[in-house]
Amino acid sequence: MWVIDIRHWLNDNYDGPAVPQLALKVAKIKEIIIYATSACTGRKAGLAPGCWRRPQRKPCKGILDVKVVGQDEIRWFCPVCGDEGVVRGWTSLNWNMSSSPNDTVH
Ligand SMILES: [Zn+2]
Repeated sequence: MWVIDIRHWLNDNYDGPAVPQLALKVAKIKEIIIYATSACTGRKAGLAPGCWRRPQRKPCKGILDVKVVGQDEIRWFCPVCGDEGVVRGWTSLNWNMSSSPNDTVH
């Protein structure tokens, strides 16, 4: 299982990848963060992110099971290939939909 602190992959403004090589990974994690934090506020989150793995060099067709667990962890799991990970360090990012000013829950 992966455990990622997304801040380690971001630039100084925490709004994009630190280096171009991380662009795809950051885009995927961003999708996961936005989806998970939208879903936990009851907002329409759209389609769940698809799996990003390529077992046997073929793209996995799994749809990730994504949820916020605890205060600052988002966990994803692919029911097809079993890929699993945890993202931390996202609570202060713009991608955290659960802390938007329009949100009256907090
Ligand atoms: Zn998968």
